[in-house]
Amino acid sequence: MTEPGQLTLFNSLTRQPEPFDPVHPGEARVYSCGPTVYNYPHIGNMRAYVFADILGRTLSFKGYKLTHVINITDVGHLTDDADAGEDKLEKAAAQNAQSIWDIAKHYTEAYWDDVKALNIRQPAQWSVATDYIAQMLEFAQEIADKHCYELDSGLYFDVSTVDDYGRLARASSDDEGEGRIETVEGKRHAADFAIWRKTPPGEKRQMEWDSPWGKGAPGWHLECSVMSGKLLGFPFDIHTGGIDHREIHHPNEIAQNQAFCCTNGLDVPANSGARIWMHNNFLVERSGKMSKSSGEFLRLQLLIDKGYHPLAYRMMCLQAHYRSELEFSWEGLGAALTRLKRMVLAAQKLSDVQACDPVHPKLAPFIEKFDAAISDDLGTPIALTALEDLLAVKKVDPGQKRGAIAAMDAVMGLNLFDLSREDLRIRPRAAQLTEAEIEDALARRKAARANKDFAASDAIRDELAAKGVDVMDGDPMGWEWKLD
Ligand code: AMP
Ligand code: ZN
Repeated sequence: MTEPGQLTLFNSLTRQPEPFDPVHPGEARVYSCGPTVYNYPHIGNMRAYVFADILGRTLSFKGYKLTHVINITDVGHLTDDADAGEDKLEKAAAQNAQSIWDIAKHYTEAYWDDVKALNIRQPAQWSVATDYIAQMLEFAQEIADKHCYELDSGLYFDVSTVDDYGRLARASSDDEGEGRIETVEGKRHAADFAIWRKTPPGEKRQMEWDSPWGKGAPGWHLECSVMSGKLLGFPFDIHTGGIDHREIHHPNEIAQNQAFCCTNGLDVPANSGARIWMHNNFLVERSGKMSKSSGEFLRLQLLIDKGYHPLAYRMMCLQAHYRSELEFSWEGLGAALTRLKRMVLAAQKLSDVQACDPVHPKLAPFIEKFDAAISDDLGTPIALTALEDLLAVKKVDPGQKRGAIAAMDAVMGLNLFDLSREDLRIRPRAAQLTEAEIEDALARRKAARANKDFAASDAIRDELAAKGVDVMDGDPMGWEWKLD
């Protein structure tokens, strides 16, 4: 077996690109903060998992044995990051008069549907927070004496007990910083955070467990420290999440990891738990449809209902570097779909060809360009152009060409050889005609034209237009019709 290849990744801890140097030779262990399952994910959330998927696929492409864990947050995430407000799941359950477990199940399944639709690979494990309560209590007990203090409302982590708190956010414990408003009475420092939240006297929560600090539920940050450490071992290689987590959630995880590692005599580099912390930038939308609390927000299902294949959204994500902000627009999604169509059409020319090893020197520059781009902090925008250049190249052995394209698409996950032109046709759910009806009308129109009955042919065209079908004679991509 050949040695895994060189790869550079941007580490948010140092704010520098760094060569990937695995803790266990030949392996890559990755933890990604998963969704809080109190509502549907919006497409911005899904950008975080497309990014984690590209990271995982790239590590596999470079020859590392990947172990990827994504958690499901079904407890502890409050409506306010500063330890105030309600548990998001308790609140959703009360609003919908349903049990928390039903709410969590429903939205976990909805999230998995989006994962599948976006061709995001299954991680080695989905770790569900409520399955790890006992381990969370154990972890909390280990660090409680040296690093925590108890208030009426719960057990709090004292951020002054660890070195360099907040270095990931480039903030310090004295820094009030964004979102660090002191909302809990009695906290020693504004940045101190809950490890365990006690159920207030006289109240009953749907989710509560006994603990040395009374009945209650874990703080949100605890679950990720516990599950990442248990499932991947400290230190592991890479921890991912959206850029918002760089400010509070991940600094707090790091503080817990430091406390745990020091208590257990683990000599983890800088005790951060993970060597590399990576963050995807946000998907934004001008009118604010990316906030789950705004009521109406952009879900993948809405894109599908409007007729877009979900992989057009994956393409849209790949066209931007994961560290750049990406603005969502319907025009942008349409352009991504057209680009995907072109690639699928080019790939279809090889549909009957058996793939084989791309050993011909003519293919090398394409493969090298792709490899260099993806190995440079997951440069998907340039990697996509390398793939397009390869799709356009002529006079090469078709089997080898197919082999090279398949290897690249194993990283990009666009399913180029499985998609058909028809799959990518825009099909709004609200369309007034079925595809069979459209095809039938077009066949009648073709017959009318063959009989030189242009009046009948135009009438059919107008009828179709009135029902939202645009007939595209002579379309260079051969689409024949589209739904508006
Ligand atoms: P949540 O379900 O709110 O815990 O978020 C799930 C993931 O989505 C986290 O990694 C967030 O950092 C990330 N995220 C939230 N909003 C956006 C956005 N607009 N664009 C990209 N990632 C986001
Ligand atoms: Zn997390």
